[in-house]
Amino acid sequence: SRYVFDFSDGNKDLKDLLGGKGANLAEMTRMGLPVPPGFTITTDACREYLHTGTLPSGLLREVEDHLRLVEARLGKRLGDIHEPLLLSVRSGGPFSMPGMMETILDIGLNDTTVLALAARSGDERFAWDSYRRLIQMFGRTVYGVPAELFEAGPGDTAALRDLVATYQKVFAEYTGRDFPQSPREQLYGAITAVFQSWNADRAVLYRRQERIPHDLGTAVNVQAMVFGNRGPRSGSGVAFTRDPATGRRGAYGDYLPDAQGEDVVAGIRNTLTLADLSRIDPASHVKLLSIMEKLEQRFRDLCDIEFTIEDGDLWMLQTRVGKRTPAAAFVIAAQLVDEGTITLDEAISRVTGDQLAHLMFPAFDLDAAPEPLTTAVAASPGAASGAIVFDSTAATAADGPVILVRHETNPDDLPGMIAAQGILTSRGGKTSHAAVVARGMGKTCVCGAEQAVVDPVAETLTVGTTVLHAGDVISIDGTTGHVYAGAVPVRSSSVVRFFEGELSPLGDPLLAAVQRLMTHAGHVARLAVHANADTAADARRARRFGATGIGLCRTEHMFLGPRRELVEHLILGDHESALAELLPLQRDDFTALLREMDGLPVTIRLIDPPLHEFLPSLEDLTARVAAAQAVGRDPGLDGLLLAAVRRMHEQNPMLGLRGVRLGLVVPGLFAMQVRAVAEAAAARVAAGGDPRPEIMVPLVGTVQELDVVRAEALEVLSRVEGAPPIPIGTMIEVPRAALTAGDIAHAADFFSFGTNDLTQMTWGFSRDDVEGAFFGRYLDLGVFTVSPFESLDTTGVGELVRTAVERGRATRPDLPTGVCGEHGGDPASIHFFHDVGLDYVSCSPYRIPIARLEAGRAAV
Ligand code: ADP
Ligand code: MG
Ligand code: MG
Repeated sequence: SRYVFDFSDGNKDLKDLLGGKGANLAEMTRMGLPVPPGFTITTDACREYLHTGTLPSGLLREVEDHLRLVEARLGKRLGDIHEPLLLSVRSGGPFSMPGMMETILDIGLNDTTVLALAARSGDERFAWDSYRRLIQMFGRTVYGVPAELFEAGPGDTAALRDLVATYQKVFAEYTGRDFPQSPREQLYGAITAVFQSWNADRAVLYRRQERIPHDLGTAVNVQAMVFGNRGPRSGSGVAFTRDPATGRRGAYGDYLPDAQGEDVVAGIRNTLTLADLSRIDPASHVKLLSIMEKLEQRFRDLCDIEFTIEDGDLWMLQTRVGKRTPAAAFVIAAQLVDEGTITLDEAISRVTGDQLAHLMFPAFDLDAAPEPLTTAVAASPGAASGAIVFDSTAATAADGPVILVRHETNPDDLPGMIAAQGILTSRGGKTSHAAVVARGMGKTCVCGAEQAVVDPVAETLTVGTTVLHAGDVISIDGTTGHVYAGAVPVRSSSVVRFFEGELSPLGDPLLAAVQRLMTHAGHVARLAVHANADTAADARRARRFGATGIGLCRTEHMFLGPRRELVEHLILGDHESALAELLPLQRDDFTALLREMDGLPVTIRLIDPPLHEFLPSLEDLTARVAAAQAVGRDPGLDGLLLAAVRRMHEQNPMLGLRGVRLGLVVPGLFAMQVRAVAEAAAARVAAGGDPRPEIMVPLVGTVQELDVVRAEALEVLSRVEGAPPIPIGTMIEVPRAALTAGDIAHAADFFSFGTNDLTQMTWGFSRDDVEGAFFGRYLDLGVFTVSPFESLDTTGVGELVRTAVERGRATRPDLPTGVCGEHGGDPASIHFFHDVGLDYVSCSPYRIPIARLEAGRAAV
């Protein structure tokens, strides 16, 4: 097989084989740009070396053949005592791993060739400076000589010659052998060291963080040296074809005269700008700009480059499609469309939902931030400051902004979470209740702050020696996980204000780009985007963010607060009057929602959670009853409630009396809700509106359940005059429902996948119980690469979704299908839902723009 490619043989599409650097050096060579000649040793060779521990047979012969070509081209030879060729040996894998691996410059220098270099260049100082750099880099990289042993910087020629002697001594003392005088030994040693650097600790760690596979290996680029350190007419620089921070047009760069290699980024001396270069060396500057333009045309994107000028000659040493901030990504994509370089379809594929999410978070002004108190899990991005509160009641009662601080949260904390600016917990990870709910609400959350001691009774938050009390201000950064004492100034997101209609995109390149790409995403998307929203206020926001319907209105949220009392009555037996009182309240809720979403579908889910979730906790009731009995008072209602809670207690509420099961067991409950929906719709019709409610039955496992509910609902609907036709569909969230979807479709006007429950039931674990218990370990072990609650498990749970769609549509070809779990707002999951042919995804209001963008991206 072939292990070595001359730069003139490769191209930019061979990144897997030649690495990113090698592939693009080859591309530039093919384009006729000034690239010092050289060749690339493939990642195949690296993988084989890492596997066997020896260089593949035949590799060295190929290297020698290619070396001869380079020597012939330049009229120099490696180790020649008159015309020595010097080489750089550079790592470069398929994915960029900045600064993670090794580069060795000036290979080929020894005690003899250094004199030839001095004579040829007429610059002794330069020759000795290059030699001491080689000993330093070679010693460090190939023999692991600690960098700090090579102390002291450049001086005059004599000083540098002495420095070479000193470095050679350091090398010999540390390694027990002399610095190799054989240029070939240097070259092979360097190649081997680059191969090995693939498995250096920091490289392994970096790959783990960036999810880059460990088995790719690195390529090695061997290239003739050019010298930026040959005096004032020479230098080295880095440049971008556009501003990578804002996307603004125009070349940006740093240049350092009389410098080599990493001097520019090392911050040893102050760098100059490209404008300075245009004064120092106008010819090179003009050439550089024209090359940058060619590169942009070839790569059709922002490029970053590394270049060197040797005695007035410009050389290109590297280019790649450059990293950029999320804002720049949007601006550049739109610019490239304007410039006729890419299509709008390509433009939306150049940005991601995650980047858009980033642009929607408020952020702290980091220049104004103090040292963080502690750093924990960055669970839901954003920046929030407020007074500490330790419970939901205090949060809802507070006037100003508050941060809710808890050990962990549960559904009872919901009102507090809604009222708070942000949530801080001392337990739980990225998938804890606090994290999931906060992300859904677009609310800042830092969780799992293990160094923080939360004492809700004493109302203190202690971190080390710092004790904070209720009312003290803290700031949390959900992007970094930092927690600060005191307030940190916040910048609000202009993109959110634009979506809210508060800012015009006119004259603002970022907002104009966001608008343009979002509009195009909407044109090409096949998936519609609906909102999970229970209140008119949420619905309004969802519409502003571009939702074209409500995919999930959870009616149980309408039973909280003062209405709990009615649920107590319902449970304690006074069914009819409780339902009669609930009816008008629900009707008003639905009327407001239908008014807000006039002309758009509103999918209303009948009550889902077990009724005992609406009662006070067993602990509270026991205490209250005991307190009453202690003073000889009749515990009254509390006594009855306590008995009811004991009676209704469930070992596994998630698998208990809930969803459709409640509807079949509690007489009149579903009928009341259906009637409220129908009467609300009739009221809207009477008011001249266009209500489009749909009724959704949760937790169905068999068509028989749905048949009963459907018959009852149709009967109720037939008795409400003036209501429009109201479809009755079901959630698919029990595995059995997915498998029997063909039967269920006979009784369902639509399917909506409840992927949260479907995930729990397919895996057999409950979200609330497992995240703290073993998810961290599973992620470490690689059992999961991402929590299946964050991103749909497409191989397992996804297969059920696919099956249900197929079987449902076999029964009813025009069956509408959607998804209303958390996954409806997750980019990777959205692409899957597009692929299996769903009609819409539904997600929380703040995720809607992200889902709209991803729905478009999935379609191009
Ligand atoms: P990294 O992957 O860390 O960017 P590089 O392989 O690009 O490492 O090498 C770092 C620097 O070394 C380059 O930016 C360039 O300045 C210098 N360098 C590499 N090859 C050569 C060469 N053939 N001639 C001159 N300088 C070189
Ligand atoms: Mg580089
Ligand atoms: Mg569910």
